[in-house]
This record gives sequence, structure tokens and C-alpha cells, in this order.
Amino acid sequence: MRMQFVDLGKQYREYKKEIDQAIQGVLDSTQFINGDEVSSLEAELADFAGVSYAIGCSSGTDALLVPLMAKGVKPGDEILVPAFTYFATASMVSHWGARPVFVDVDPITFNIDPAKIEEKITNKTRGIFAVSLYGQPADFDAINSIAKAHGLWVLEDAAQSFGARSGSKCSCNLSEIATTSFFPAKPLGCYGDGGAMFTNDPDLADLLRKYINHGQSKRYHHRYVGINGRLDTIQAAILRVKLRNFSQEIELRNEAAAYYTKHLQDIVETPVIIDGNVSSWAQYTIKVENRDKVREVLSTKEIPTSVHYPMPLYKQEAFSYLKDSGPYPVSDSLSTQVLSLPMHAFITRNEQDEVIASIREAIHG
Ligand SMILES: *Cc1c(COP(=O)(O)O)cnc(C)c1O
Repeated sequence: MRMQFVDLGKQYREYKKEIDQAIQGVLDSTQFINGDEVSSLEAELADFAGVSYAIGCSSGTDALLVPLMAKGVKPGDEILVPAFTYFATASMVSHWGARPVFVDVDPITFNIDPAKIEEKITNKTRGIFAVSLYGQPADFDAINSIAKAHGLWVLEDAAQSFGARSGSKCSCNLSEIATTSFFPAKPLGCYGDGGAMFTNDPDLADLLRKYINHGQSKRYHHRYVGINGRLDTIQAAILRVKLRNFSQEIELRNEAAAYYTKHLQDIVETPVIIDGNVSSWAQYTIKVENRDKVREVLSTKEIPTSVHYPMPLYKQEAFSYLKDSGPYPVSDSLSTQVLSLPMHAFITRNEQDEVIASIREAIHG
């Protein structure tokens, strides 16, 4: 069988007994919505990330929508978002009727560039959605201090970085609010859609929890207009098994990343992790000038690769109504050069050797 980009089958076989038991347990209990599995997972997620409150929800996308509701963001309000990230970071802002205002990214980390934030702040700016792209935390010390000076709140879109660290703190504990995704291929993935929101503020936690349950204060009494954005109980049970093994998986991902870097850094631009940061390696992404050719050589050898992302957000058709033509030079150039390689906790050195040899062949001809 050929190599997988993210080998979920291998991971399942590793934990099959525990996962099957966890799913069966939910079936036997018939507690399909909320219940012990969800509340236990929330406590375990909070404990893992060192945050006071974790609130499970239906996806990483809904996790970005609900804080806009809880923060009372109004039509026309502006939220700063990186120009180079997954679509959902900006689409929920737009969906909620607010305006995503793009900020170019740093050429080393590919995360929002703090030096370019202030020029985008207006009297309509309410908050900043900063993404920890590919698993490396953004520069939250700088972002938080700019936000504080301007009376803004900060949300970490940690969809790719659960399990990462910045100094002594974990991703999801670096800003007022954080969100993550349990999409199957994310570092901590479930077997469908799922996500979570994090905060240390008890009042905000309470609001977020109400908004994912129809704004309900008690049964059939609705204080707010919210959504049905709860995390499925079966998914929570699966996530509890995976979370028990997650620290070990983060270590394995870091070993695999170090191996790629050691054997590729002389021929391509390999990822740079800032001192004090630990990445969760949602993606291992190199930069190459002749990306199409490299992809083609790898694909003839049935080595899967992916491009995260081929287009900066300001160029997306869905955002043409913003009439924002930049410039976002770093985002533009990244979108033509980035290439993500197979990466997961169970990748073998043999598989990596094959990827490495193929890249060397593609570059040296
Ligand atoms: C995956 C992802 C999301 C969306 O998460 P879903 O669970 O798929 O809805 C949001 N932001 C970023 C940066 C992502 O990578």
C-alpha cells in the first residue's frame, strides 16, 4: 500500500481496542448528546492546555463563529485576520456580517505579522483572529500588547496547533479566547467534525456554552439567539482515547519533522521554529521555487503532497466584495511556493527517506 499524507488507518489500528470500546460505551449508554464523555473530555482538554475552561463544539468553523456572537460583534465591525490561512478563519467573520480585514504574514513563521497590524486598526476594529499556522504559535506577546493598547480582544485560531507550546504556555492558552478543530486530519482529530473553544474567563466561558446550545439559560428558556453547535458524544469518546496518547504523538511528530529538516535543509527552505516554540506539526511545509515540477515527480512515485494554501484569502472570489487588492506580498509569494509533505505520528523513517530522495531527485534532476 502506498504512503498516506496523514495515515489515520495506522493510528486507528494502534488504538483500535480502546476506540471500539469507547464508541460501544456510548451506544450502550444511549447518551448521544452531551453527558459524561463530553464533560470529561472538556475537563481533560482544559487540563492538557492549562486553560480554565474548554467547551466542545461542532467544528473548528463553528468555534470561530460563536465567539463573534459572545463578543457582541455587530455588522460593519472589523476583525483583523491573516491574509494567508485557511478560508474558515475569515469566512465566519464575513458570515456573521462583520468585515474581515487582512494583514500580511511574517516571511519566517507565515503567521500574522505583528509589525503590520497597527496600520490596519480603525475605529471599527473589535478583535484579532491570529492563526497558529501549521502548528507553530503566532507571536502572541506582540499581538496581545498591540490589542491591549487599542482595546481589542484576541482569539487564537489553534485549529492546527493544539498540542503546540510557546515558552511555558500551551497553544489555546496564549490569548483571551482560543479555538481548535478536531477535523480527522488535524493533530488531534476525531472521526467526523468537531472542535473546541478555550478561555480563562468564567463569564465568557458561560456565554460560549450558552451560544452553542440555542442561547438557552435553562431548558426552553432562551436568553440569546444561538446555534446548535454541540460536540457529538461519540466524537468526545473517541477524542478521550486519542488525547491520552497525544503527548506521545506530538513527540513523534517532532522527531519526524527534525528528520525531514536534517535531510532537506541543504536543498529546500525547511520550516523555521522560533526559539521557545514547539510546533504540533499539523503540516510539515517546505518552500520550493519549482513547486509544480517537484509535485509532479512526487506524484509519479505515488507520494501524496498538498498545498496549504494556493491562494491568499484576499484573492478568493467569495471575498471579492471586500474590494481589497492588497498588497500582501508575503502571502502572494508563499502561495506559489509552499508544499506540505506527508506528516503524522506514525510515519516511518523508510517512508520519509522515500520522500526525501524523491525531492532531491526532483530538484537536482
Ligand atoms: C481546519 C481549520 C479550520 C476549520 O476547522 P473545521 O473543523 O474543519 O471546521 C479553521 N481554521 C484553520 C486555520 C483550520 O486549519
